[in-house]
Amino acid sequence: MSIPAGPPQGDAANNVEPRQRRTKVTPFRGVEVGIRGAQLRTTETDRLCKAGRGAGAGGMVELSPPARGFAARLIRWHQRHGRHDLPWQNTTDPYRVWLSEIMLQQTQVATVIPYYRRFLDRFPQLADLAAAPVEEVMALWSGLGYYARARNLHACARTVMTQHGGNFPRDPHVIAQLPGIGRSTANSIATFCFGAHAPILDGNVKRVLCRAFGIEGLAASSAVDKRLWALAAELMPARHGAVYNQAQMDLGAMICIRAKPSCDACPLNESCVAHSTGRTRELPTPKPRREIPQREATLLILQDGNRVLLETRPPTGIWGGLLSLPELPDGAEAREWAERRFGCHVSAVSPAALLVHAFTHFRLRITPLLLDVVPGHSAMEPGCQWLDLAETGKAALPAPIRSILDALPGNILGSRRLPE
Ligand code: SF4
Repeated sequence: MSIPAGPPQGDAANNVEPRQRRTKVTPFRGVEVGIRGAQLRTTETDRLCKAGRGAGAGGMVELSPPARGFAARLIRWHQRHGRHDLPWQNTTDPYRVWLSEIMLQQTQVATVIPYYRRFLDRFPQLADLAAAPVEEVMALWSGLGYYARARNLHACARTVMTQHGGNFPRDPHVIAQLPGIGRSTANSIATFCFGAHAPILDGNVKRVLCRAFGIEGLAASSAVDKRLWALAAELMPARHGAVYNQAQMDLGAMICIRAKPSCDACPLNESCVAHSTGRTRELPTPKPRREIPQREATLLILQDGNRVLLETRPPTGIWGGLLSLPELPDGAEAREWAERRFGCHVSAVSPAALLVHAFTHFRLRITPLLLDVVPGHSAMEPGCQWLDLAETGKAALPAPIRSILDALPGNILGSRRLPE
C-alpha cells in the first residue's frame, strides 16, 4: 500500500496561515464603537498604555517591558486596522464560530469562505449537520484537505446533540472534550460566544509571542508550549477578551506574517524583541529542515463509457472515507489484477499524465493507468461503485483524484466543483 492508511496527515496544498476571526465588538467605556469603523475618543486602552501595566487574569499586574500595554496596543490597532467583515464575524452563534474555527485550521481564509457558505446553505443549524450522513459531509468538504476535520466535525455535531441536548457547552474545558477541538479552539469559541476569559494559542499567536518576547526553541516542544501558554494567560486582559483574541489573530495573519513581517505597521514594534534585535527571520525558531520522502502509487481508472469505478478509502488515514481510484498493489499487473478483482473485461490499457501531490510529511507521485473495461455480471464489492463522470462534481473526491478525472478525454463537464 503506497498511500498510507495510518494517522491522518495534512495536505500541504492548503497552506497553513491566516486565521481571521470575528466577534461582536463590545464598546469600551467612553468610546463610540461600531462593529466597523470604530471611532476612538478616550479609551481604557490609552489608560493601560500610559500606565505601562497589563490587566492579567486576576486584574492589574506588573508586566515585563514587552508586555506593558501589549493587549491595549493590540486592541487599539485592531479597532482601526483589523478585519471586521468576514462571513463568520459579527455572530456569537457557537455553531457558526465553531465551523469557521475548524475550517480555518491549516487553511487560508480565501479557501475557506466558499466552503463555509456552502456548509451553512446545506446545514443551517448544528442539528442539520448532525442528522446528515457522514458521506455527505465528506463530499461537501472535498478539496478542503485535512479530512479528519470533517469526520470530527460530524462526530462533534452528533455529540453535542446526544450529550448536550443540542446546545454547545459554554465551559472551555468541556468544549475541549468534544471531537476535533483542542484547547486553543475551545478557548476561542468560549471567548467569542460566551464571553469567557480564555487565552488562545494558535500558530499565528505563537509566532507573534515568540517574536515579541524573543522566545527561542521549537514552539512544538512541551517546554516552549508551556511557557507560551503561561505568557498568553498573563497577557490576557481582564476585559474585552474577544476583541483581544481577534486582534492577535489578525496581527499574525496580516502584519506579523511568517516571511517578511510588516514591522513598520506593527503596534508592537517599539517593544518587540525580534524587531529590535534584527531576529525576525530567526524567531520563531524554525523546525530543522528534513528531506521530504516521496512515495509512489499506481491508480487505475477503470472506465466504461461515461462511468468510472471508484472505491471508498478506509475511514482513517489519508483521504479517509473519501472516494478514490483503486490502487494497484506493488508487483501486480494492471489488466490481470483489475479483471480478477472487479470481474470485468479490460479491452485496452494506456498511461495517463503523472501527478505529484504534496502532503505535509511526504510527496505522492501518482501514476494513473486508464483501463477501458466492460463490466462483468458479478456483484460489486462493498465500497465500490460506478459513477457517471457528470456526477463526480458532487462526489467526495480528494483534489488529486478530481484533477485526474478532470483530465480524462471526453470529460466535458469534468468533476470540477460547481460554481458558488
Ligand atoms: S514588530 Fe515585527 S516581528 Fe515584532 S510582533 Fe510586530 S510584526 Fe512581528
